[in-house]
Amino acid sequence: MTVKTRLFVDQPLAEGNRVSLTREQAHYLFGVMRMAVGGAVALFNGRDGEWHGDIVEAGKRGGVLECAAQMRPLHMPPDLWLCFAPIKKTRTDFIVEKATEMGAAKLCPVQTDFTNSERIKQERLQAHALEAAEQCGATYVPEVTALQKLGTLLDRWPTERQLMFCDEAELGAATSLARATRGPWAILIGPEGGFSPAERARLHALEQSHVVSLGPRILRADTAAVAALTLWQSALGDWTT
Ligand code: SAH
Repeated sequence: MTVKTRLFVDQPLAEGNRVSLTREQAHYLFGVMRMAVGGAVALFNGRDGEWHGDIVEAGKRGGVLECAAQMRPLHMPPDLWLCFAPIKKTRTDFIVEKATEMGAAKLCPVQTDFTNSERIKQERLQAHALEAAEQCGATYVPEVTALQKLGTLLDRWPTERQLMFCDEAELGAATSLARATRGPWAILIGPEGGFSPAERARLHALEQSHVVSLGPRILRADTAAVAALTLWQSALGDWTT
């Protein structure tokens, strides 16, 4: 039997383990999807891979699933952070959803000199990442970190982490990912206003920086995020071996 519905549960998954559902999950499975005892769901928790879960109790406010067998092992995404300046609500949601599908391991909202919004709803964004992981078959949910200043992030930049700096000022210049090597990476995408001259100078000077152009047109930040993830994944990520 193929199992279509996938649920993230923050509980250990192993043969015979019973997993209890939240009120929202019960509503979704039994109210929206019309499932019942005897039905099956795919479960993952970001650690133990994907499990076949049989519905053994179904109620209005809760329910219980029993883990039968592991269907897929845990597949970790590559060690890639997506650092991005938050933009308008729906476009930021889009970035989080797409970055999860594209296999980023960590999503880091950064406040830059020209960032439009000074606050983010971290929990809401995390819930979006979780939903995207459920939908796209991932066995891992990327962490959405708290908003941090770009300057602070760069002050603490890890020596071994390379940075794909997407600079709109490099329109159409050759990308330098061809010479890049695998390992820990991050992508940086700026806000609608782009990067300030001071930020650009600092990012160009950063030893780990690879300045990359995303072509001869200026992309909106959400498009740029997906384009950058595609480039990176096809050159250095888990699309190739
Ligand atoms: N207002 C800016 C554009 C910002 S686009 C201007 O007119 O110059 C938002 C972000 O997307 C940029 O900061 C950059 O990180 C990325 N981006 C968009 N188009 C790009 C391109 N052609 N090359 C590299 N990065 C790009």
